[in-house]
Amino acid sequence: MAKMRSAVMLGPRQIELVEVDRPEVDADSVIIKTEGMGVCGSNLHWWRGAERPTKLWPFPIPGAGGHEYGGVVVEAGKNIRKLKPGDRVAVDQFHSTSCGRCPYCSSGAFGVCPDRGDFVTPGFVDYIKFGEKGLYVLPDSIETHAAAIIEPAATPVAALRRLGLRGGERVVVLGAGVVGIVAAAVAKILGAGKVVVTAKYDQQERFAREFGADVVVRSTAGDAVEQVLSHVDGGADIVIETVGGSANTLDQAATIVRPRGTVVVLGLWEVATKIDSWAAVFKEINFMYALAYGQVGLRTDYEFTIDMMASGRLPLQKLITHQIPLANIREAFELTDDKTRGAIKVIVRP
Ligand SMILES: [Zn+2]
Ligand SMILES: [Zn+2]
Repeated sequence: MAKMRSAVMLGPRQIELVEVDRPEVDADSVIIKTEGMGVCGSNLHWWRGAERPTKLWPFPIPGAGGHEYGGVVVEAGKNIRKLKPGDRVAVDQFHSTSCGRCPYCSSGAFGVCPDRGDFVTPGFVDYIKFGEKGLYVLPDSIETHAAAIIEPAATPVAALRRLGLRGGERVVVLGAGVVGIVAAAVAKILGAGKVVVTAKYDQQERFAREFGADVVVRSTAGDAVEQVLSHVDGGADIVIETVGGSANTLDQAATIVRPRGTVVVLGLWEVATKIDSWAAVFKEINFMYALAYGQVGLRTDYEFTIDMMASGRLPLQKLITHQIPLANIREAFELTDDKTRGAIKVIVRP
């Protein structure tokens, strides 16, 4: 059997490449040679020593949790209609592995399909195998490796499209990693009036401004909640939480949102996180959690994201601050973990 490389997380801050079997094509799948793989903030929970595998951390140990891909189709099974070898694609794994028949799939909520069967993220590898559902051929203006950033960008896109902005909202985004920066940009695209972002590092502040934030508050300088509230008198209509981990941002969000406002939770948590329920109930806050993407109206969130990226309205390519060869995957994780070194998005390239 042909072999390929796969990253394995052996323990906190220990990662190495091993040889595994290369996936083989079958009638209903394609084999994609990866050209870009994003290191996700969620990959860092392991890296930093979180226990695994837990419900909080569903990724399997081989593969090290990689799940953001741009690549080229190299083989297509005999039942494949839309794709052929040579096609450059972005990968929506949730759509690709969904059943396509249940009420959730029928209504475009591929991410919560209960009939997915075994959902395994392939990881940081040379080749991946998927059904053609959820694979998107890239327009010429998007380089193949850069398509890896479409997956993390599609998450805030999906949340905001699902929430449905009506125009003029005052939006606060907590955190300015890729998800936070894109959330700010997409809120503006969908008609938000004022967007306030909290950022910890210089590059986060710079990109948040470049991507449309009206105000950036440095979360390290004094009381972030007080600073934010000074820019949204009476509270924000929408607060988008993108930090997770063990931060107190969910409670902060509940403080910042206005009565009957909405808190959108995009962060992934290592610990059970607390909020002040009395404060929340008196304000009648709506909480909305979002993980994956799907379809709103006739367009999927991936299509929307790809269109926005290709047209230049959402120049996601700019957020790729580092490209690291797969052979140096340890460095890719170190760069993603230590934001003082300037990273926004680190892309691993075979
Ligand atoms: Zn991710
Ligand atoms: Zn389904």
